Amino acid sequence: MMLSIVQLRIQRIVQVICLICFVAGAPAGSASDSMLALSGRTMGTTYNVKCWRNDAPQSSGASRAKIEEDIERLLHRMDQQMSTYLPDSELSQFNRATDTNWVAISSDVVEVIRRASQIADESDGALDITVGPLVNLWGFGSEKRPWGIPADSEIAKALPNIGYRKLSWRAHPPAIRKESPGVQCDLSAIAKGFAVDRISEYLESVQFNDYLVEIGGEVRANGFNANGAIWRVGVRDPGAPDEIRTAIALRNSAMATSGDYVQSFEQDGRRYSHTIDPRTGRPVAHALGSVTVVHESCAMADGWATALNVLGPEIGYKKASERRLAVLMIVRDGNRWIERMTPAFKERMANAP
Ligand code: FAD
Repeated sequence: MMLSIVQLRIQRIVQVICLICFVAGAPAGSASDSMLALSGRTMGTTYNVKCWRNDAPQSSGASRAKIEEDIERLLHRMDQQMSTYLPDSELSQFNRATDTNWVAISSDVVEVIRRASQIADESDGALDITVGPLVNLWGFGSEKRPWGIPADSEIAKALPNIGYRKLSWRAHPPAIRKESPGVQCDLSAIAKGFAVDRISEYLESVQFNDYLVEIGGEVRANGFNANGAIWRVGVRDPGAPDEIRTAIALRNSAMATSGDYVQSFEQDGRRYSHTIDPRTGRPVAHALGSVTVVHESCAMADGWATALNVLGPEIGYKKASERRLAVLMIVRDGNRWIERMTPAFKERMANAP
């Protein structure tokens, strides 16, 4: 089709403008120089990603659609590996298996188990990823049993398969192994934090260095928010969970909270939460309303928050101080709540802008 000179000129101008846009790195729909906010559902909860500045040379700015697609793919992969709610996930298949041979599994699963084992060693077994059968007994797990107090005999029957040392891991080639057929693996206390770390690493790989990533309350923040200030994240009030008790400045670090005010039920005036003491087979019973851990790694913050919640306000506080963990505990004291901060937490807050 012959174009008139005028049409050719317009077409040429349009091409030049597009070329300039492309070279300038701002292809249509690019997220390269503005706030990118993504959210969705994952792992039975929600996720939010806010990234502010992209230091990438403009020509390589990943488009919004590409970033969204990559993050969704990463979360889907984690779900397929570590969910105990998907019957065909790697972990669900491992949990159903009764043989005690090495089972090949994704390296990310081994990495999460390696970190959980490290925290288990350092917390005297308080974090214990073999508690899945007990979590289900109390109605908090993937079997969706009604919440309620199981019979002592049911707990006694489950206890012989509980103990993090009954689950072995191998990095090369990646594999895990159960000591006896009834041993299972539940990564709910640490895998969301791990997924936050993975998304953060991805954002930095596409030169988004100012971001906040959150999955089900586990958070990691880097750089600055849209107003050029350090990200600040609220900690809920265990006495009034819809309210924020305090805000924490997160400077290139992560934060996770474990508490008894979301997943719990009350019976005969007593609250039973989804945090299980692996030594007793029962939900923790102490005055801790919530434990918030600030750490470079979101996976470690997530795992330690559960471990310290199991250890309770006294032993947990002592363990956190010994390990120089930055921890905020909100503890019931009669009909009020008091805050206990470890020295490392106070130091972090003192240095926060
Ligand atoms: P946290 O304090 O972070 O973790 C508490 C959880 O850890 C408990 O629920 C229990 O599972 C486990 N736990 C309890 N005591 C111990 C202990 N002593 N040591 C180690 N672990 C312990 N939920 C759904 O309802 N639907 C889903 O489809 C779903 N999919 C998921 C997929 C993945 C990959 C993961 C990791 C979790 C999924 N979940 C799902 C669970 C949900 O996301 C949360 O993990 C769960 O509700 C607890 O998270 P939390 O942050 O509230 O508590």
